[in-house]
Amino acid sequence: MNILVLNCGSSSIKYQLLNMQAGPVVLAKGIVEKIGLAKGAFTHKPEGKEKYEATLPIPDHMAGMDLVLQALTDKQHGVINSLEEINAAGHRIAHGGEYFSQSVLITPEVKEKIAACSEIAPLHNPAHLKGIDTMERLLPTIPQVAVFDTSFHQTLPAEAYLYGIDYEYYKKYSIRKFGFHGTSHKFVAEKACKLLEWKIEEKKIITCHLGNGSSITAINKGKSVDTSMGFTPVAGVVMGTRCGDLDVGALLYICEKRGLSTAEAVAFANKESGVMGISGVSSDFRELHAAAESGNERAKLALEVFCYNVKKYVGSYAAVLNGVDLLIFTGGIGENDHVVRSIVSSNLEFLGFRFNDEINKVTRGKDQILSTPDSKAVIMSITTDEELVIALDTLHIVQTK
Ligand code: AMP
Repeated sequence: MNILVLNCGSSSIKYQLLNMQAGPVVLAKGIVEKIGLAKGAFTHKPEGKEKYEATLPIPDHMAGMDLVLQALTDKQHGVINSLEEINAAGHRIAHGGEYFSQSVLITPEVKEKIAACSEIAPLHNPAHLKGIDTMERLLPTIPQVAVFDTSFHQTLPAEAYLYGIDYEYYKKYSIRKFGFHGTSHKFVAEKACKLLEWKIEEKKIITCHLGNGSSITAINKGKSVDTSMGFTPVAGVVMGTRCGDLDVGALLYICEKRGLSTAEAVAFANKESGVMGISGVSSDFRELHAAAESGNERAKLALEVFCYNVKKYVGSYAAVLNGVDLLIFTGGIGENDHVVRSIVSSNLEFLGFRFNDEINKVTRGKDQILSTPDSKAVIMSITTDEELVIALDTLHIVQTK
């Protein structure tokens, strides 16, 4: 069975076609960008063949999906003979609100609920719906599945998800912590337990998904019990360009001082803050390290703030869980940045961790134990694969429907 995994944004479509019997293996992946602009961009990477790139106007998602489907079946850079070889589609959906605690087959009712969440995810959910509608028109006979970033965190208890505001705002507007990166947190926790031959139902785990967006999750017996992102993905640790936890009083003060509109305040918190804002150099950790090494004090400071933030969450989630058996690093930074892992993991002996910095220093982009053999609790680097999770959930739902 071949599954097309789609992540549709407001002006982009990311895709992967996976053959599930053969591994699963990725047959092709790519991205359609700048949909709606005068010059759109299309990049298609078929496995074992030359990359195909094109710059052309891509007026809407329908035109974008058309390009993807043509490329997949193209004589030269295609990987399947006809569209009939696509058996199902799995969509990454950013926000499932309180409606979805797991992945589901897409039906008209499911689409209505995704649309209902558009109000709290205006940048993402409308674009996902466009992707679903486009696929329904282009490949009307195949099943489509929705996989939500939020669903893994639907097990949070009320004490973790409620904010300290009038309860009516929760009832009326669903103002609560939802959490994101759920597919990644769940995937790496399960993968690590499999590698360690542990039963996840018996373990207390803290997962650190550290990338352009970062979030930390406390997992007890396989269930998410707290997570650092909130009502939106701007909360939690300092990120690439997102501010993370910020005193609302400070934000209101800035808005007043600079006369910011709501939209400008959103841009300030999401795009102009984080390690980019602190350093003035970059949101990319490789560039931050390079600047810090060449003596840039603000880049150094940005890295220190980031690591301090992550460590603080690890400590607070150890308290939430009443101890911890396993600490996991994943995401672009978590999988590759040994300096960040080392700063976060050092001096945590009081929690039972003994960090092996020798192994840490040479670990990049792979599954690896980073604690010493005599460490009471384990530290690991685990590679995440959100597309694979979407494909596996899609397969499972399609096979059991
Ligand atoms: P992601 O959003 O998961 O793709 O992660 C992107 C982040 O990972 C960026 O800040 C990158 O700088 C960082 N990253 C990727 N590779 C490395 C690396 N080798 N060393 C340090 N940071 C890295």
